[in-house]
This record gives sequence, C-alpha cells and structure tokens, in this order.
Amino acid sequence: MSALAPNYKRKNLSFIRGKGSFLITADGNKYLDFVQGIAVNSLGHANKKLISAINKQSKKLWHVSNAFRIPEGEKLAKKLVKKTFADAIIFQNSGAEATETAIKVARRYFYSIGKKHKNRIICIKNSFHGRTIAAIHASGSKKMTEGFGPKVPGFDHFEFGDHKKLKKLIKKNTAAIMIETVLGEGGIKVIPDFCIKELRKLCDKHKILLILDEVQCGIGRSGKFFAFEYANVKPDIVPIAKGIGGGFPIGAVLMTKKVSKAMKPGTHGSTFGGNPLAMAVGNAVMDQINKNLLKNVNKMSKYFIHRLNEMKIKYPNIIKEVRGVGLLIGLQLFNDQTKFIKKLMENKLLTIRAAENVIRILPPLNVTKREIDIALKIISKVCNQIK
Ligand SMILES: *Cc1c(COP(=O)(O)O)cnc(C)c1O
Repeated sequence: MSALAPNYKRKNLSFIRGKGSFLITADGNKYLDFVQGIAVNSLGHANKKLISAINKQSKKLWHVSNAFRIPEGEKLAKKLVKKTFADAIIFQNSGAEATETAIKVARRYFYSIGKKHKNRIICIKNSFHGRTIAAIHASGSKKMTEGFGPKVPGFDHFEFGDHKKLKKLIKKNTAAIMIETVLGEGGIKVIPDFCIKELRKLCDKHKILLILDEVQCGIGRSGKFFAFEYANVKPDIVPIAKGIGGGFPIGAVLMTKKVSKAMKPGTHGSTFGGNPLAMAVGNAVMDQINKNLLKNVNKMSKYFIHRLNEMKIKYPNIIKEVRGVGLLIGLQLFNDQTKFIKKLMENKLLTIRAAENVIRILPPLNVTKREIDIALKIISKVCNQIK
C-alpha cells in the first residue's frame, strides 16, 4: 500500500525530467505534455530563465515573513499593477487561497464602509474556485461538498446562463458576484463578452463588487493577459495563481484602490505568501509574458482550434464541440472522455478531463506549430481507433 492517502486517482505513470512541451520517463519515453501541471507551467518545463532566477535567488534568500519588506514582491506587484486594472496586490500560495482572499477582501470592503450586512457572494453552480472549505461551498458542487458539512453559509448560486435567476439573487445583503471568466474544470465554458459586460453593469447598478476568478484562464492563457480584457471591462477583484508561478506555487489577489483600503494592517496574512524565492520566480515569469508570447498564443490557438474543428467535421459522431479561447482548449466528446484520454496517453499525448465530457488541452504558452501537429496526429489516430 502507498504511504499516500488515496484522494487522487493517479495514472500509473511518472516522470523524471521535463523539457519545454515534453515530459520524459525513467526509461526514456517522451510524452507531449498538453496538461502542463493543469495550466501551471505557462512557459513549459525547465524554462532556462526560470531555472536561472530560482538558482540565483536560492543562494541569496528564501523566506523572511511578511513582517519585513520584500523587495522582490514589491517589484512583482508593481509589474502586475502596471499591466492590469489593479492598484494593489496581496500574495498567496495557491488558487484556493487567492479565491478565499478575494471573498475576504469583498466582505471587508463593505464592512469598512459600514455595510457589514453586505456579505453574500453570488456564484455559478458547479463552478470551481478551489478545494478549501469556503471555496467548495462557493462552487456549489454537490460532489465537492459531499461529506464536508456543515455547509459554509454566505453563497448563493445560479445555473450557468440563467441570467433571470442571477438578477433575482441580488439582494440588499449581496457583496459580490464571483465567477470564472472561463469555466475551466466546468468544461472550458467561455462566458461571452457581452455577458461579462452586462455583469459589470449589473454590479455597478447594485453597487456590488465583481470578482473574476482568473486562476486558470489568466496570465496569458486566453491570448490576452486576462481573459476579461476581451470584454473590455474592469473587475474589482481578481484572484490568480497557476500560470503566474510557472510551476512554483504562487497565488495572488489583484484589486482596485477602492477595495484595497479596507485591507488595513492585520486584516489578512499568509506566512509563506510572497516570499523572496516565490517572488523571484514570479518576476521571471512576468518578464516572459510579453507581446510576442501572447502573439504566439493567439497564432497557435487559431491554428489548433481550426484543425480541431476540421477533425470535428471528419468525426461527427465522436467530437461534439471544440471550445475555448487561447490555449485553454476543450474537446467535447459525445461520450465519456475517459477512454479517449487513456488512448491519447498510450500514444504519448497527455491531456486532462473537465466536466461535460470535455478533454482539456493546455499546451505551454510557447508551444510550437510542430508540437501541435504531433498532437493533432495523435488525436486523429485515436479518433480512427475509437470510431
Ligand atoms: C485551479 C483553480 C483554483 C484553485 O487553485 P489551487 O491552486 O488548486 O488551490 C481556483 N479557481 C480556478 C478557476 C481554478 O482553475
């Protein structure tokens, strides 16, 4: 028996090395990795600049605690502020922590302006905001909350697309609407730009806050730095994680000046959050998420999605829909996707599931056309095997 608790359904496969878009096993087998640690390794495996940044920092200083100034973190915060809607940042270590902090910031904002009754958060049913106690109840998923009662209060849910219900849920005690700009785990469901725009208007009308969870779709994955930029709106609070660390655990909450003022000294903290080692890596990631990289994301996305749609026409009984934006791509099948994913893996292409029979395809942002062609060939081969 393994010494690990059985909470993961792991594949019997492990790796000793990674290079760019590829993972290599102990016996030298090479897999095309289009999972990239679930959209985490935004720059692929063993990125030279990230290796150099972590090596350099590791010899100087790892951790000091937030009792002291951390120049590396101030630098990264400045870069994030310069590039986005945000005026202030709080660093965390993971996505769930970032979404929880986003909830805390929203509630504390209303508390600070004398409206502490405004504390409820409206979320999409079966969305994903992480696995901590509050985050699972924010997601409103029966599967994730089962056996983890009592229910954490303070969250109201509407079904994806049910705008009537959403409007009905906004009450005097509502603090914020929190949604993923693109539902990742939920099946790569892109919220249309006009809906994001309407959400912003709705929040303005009711003077509540808009929290856009960009933990999975942010940091260039959508082809823009943030996916909500397509809708040309400014959210109030944005939790990020995954891609910003390039493989090192980093989370953060971006916020406007208005709400940041509520986070007075002592209101929130994290022992590890924003330590010099993490921040050195974060800075090196940010420096590489530039115009050229986003150009590559858009170019590769267009090509990949186009070719996948051709395949959908060729295999109309297997592929139901090609979804996504940028390099957050979902291949929705008519049937359960488990066997398909397994066959892709046998052919040395790694992908991962999402809800609604979707196969999630998450290449690194610097993926090449040649690598996408390898993936397309394997997907086509598996379609032929399965039909
Ligand atoms: C992955 C994810 C989270 C949780 O991140 P962890 O680092 O696993 O805690 C939260 N929100 C979204 C949208 C995610 O995709």
